[in-house]
Amino acid sequence: MKYLRKDLEGMVPYHVPYLTEGIILNANESPYNAPQQIIDLFVEEVKKNNFNRYPDMDSTILKDAISKAYDLKRENVACGVGSDELLQCLFNAVISKGDKVVVMNPSFSMYAEYAKIYGAIPVMADANPDFTFNLDNMLNAIKKNKPRMVVLCSPNNPTGIMLSEEDVREIISSTDALVILDEAYIEFSGEQGLIKLINEYDNLLILRTFSKLYAGASIRLGYALSIKDNIDLIDTVRSPYNVNVLTQLMGKTIIEHKVLYKERIQYFKDQRRAMYEALTKLGIEVYPTKANFLWMKLSDKINEALLREKIYVRTMTFNGEKYNRVCIGTPDEVEEFLKVVRQNA
Ligand code: PMP
Repeated sequence: MKYLRKDLEGMVPYHVPYLTEGIILNANESPYNAPQQIIDLFVEEVKKNNFNRYPDMDSTILKDAISKAYDLKRENVACGVGSDELLQCLFNAVISKGDKVVVMNPSFSMYAEYAKIYGAIPVMADANPDFTFNLDNMLNAIKKNKPRMVVLCSPNNPTGIMLSEEDVREIISSTDALVILDEAYIEFSGEQGLIKLINEYDNLLILRTFSKLYAGASIRLGYALSIKDNIDLIDTVRSPYNVNVLTQLMGKTIIEHKVLYKERIQYFKDQRRAMYEALTKLGIEVYPTKANFLWMKLSDKINEALLREKIYVRTMTFNGEKYNRVCIGTPDEVEEFLKVVRQNA
């Protein structure tokens, strides 16, 4: 790329293949579509829309629905084109060249990628060998590097581990840096998450998304929750009208009917336990998670067989070892996956 910034040399365009067939267990999406009742209500709203007008650039109705759901104020909410865009806005607003950003390792790769794009130096705080959270590594990385930003992910992608409230409190209290707590998968844990802390700590910002439990990956909608001063960071740098009207309408409809997803949470919890037990019985190295995916080590033979059967799972390398992140699909999809593992174990 002739015009690419010199300090980004070596980076390549980000691309994920668009899969439309086979069993798709590689992207942490919901295996189920949004509930029909929600789709119907959304369509009715869309019919009333004036397509010639720009959308409300403040997503007011959507923000009101979100803040009501969490007993917060409108000023505590920012909406973005997926939580990806919100992360990008936060890096853009907060980071200057050479700043340090402490991230968990392993964790969602975009944290370190955004750090690099915005000229920061990512500092990795390694997990324990069994992938549980290592608080000392995190606190030491913060103490030594005096970061401008810390990014935590709970439940963590790709390992599925959750951070305890005490650990998160200790991390936030140990630093002046902006601490981003990404709770993209929190609904699958069956727990409330740590939104309650945002009015207690002025350096905490929580990220959530409609892309996972809420089966809205296609509308690209994420939200940030924090005190107004941190929400203003996002509004200072985001592009105007970032969240289009269709997304605002669908987001509002989903959040107002989030009770319709309750049974799904139970399904994911039960299926997660069943998959964990089935894989353990087959002698697979698999780790307990709190998300809609499991973290495991599958042999090359199993990976090749899965691919042949068009069952798509994610492969990642950590410390030179290959691991797999496998989503919890529908019961039929899980059965197909387990069948191939069983035949090749
Ligand atoms: N955070 C985490 C931890 C994720 O895994 C993902 C999606 N893979 C995102 C954020 C981005 O989600 P979205 O942009 O769809 O809201």
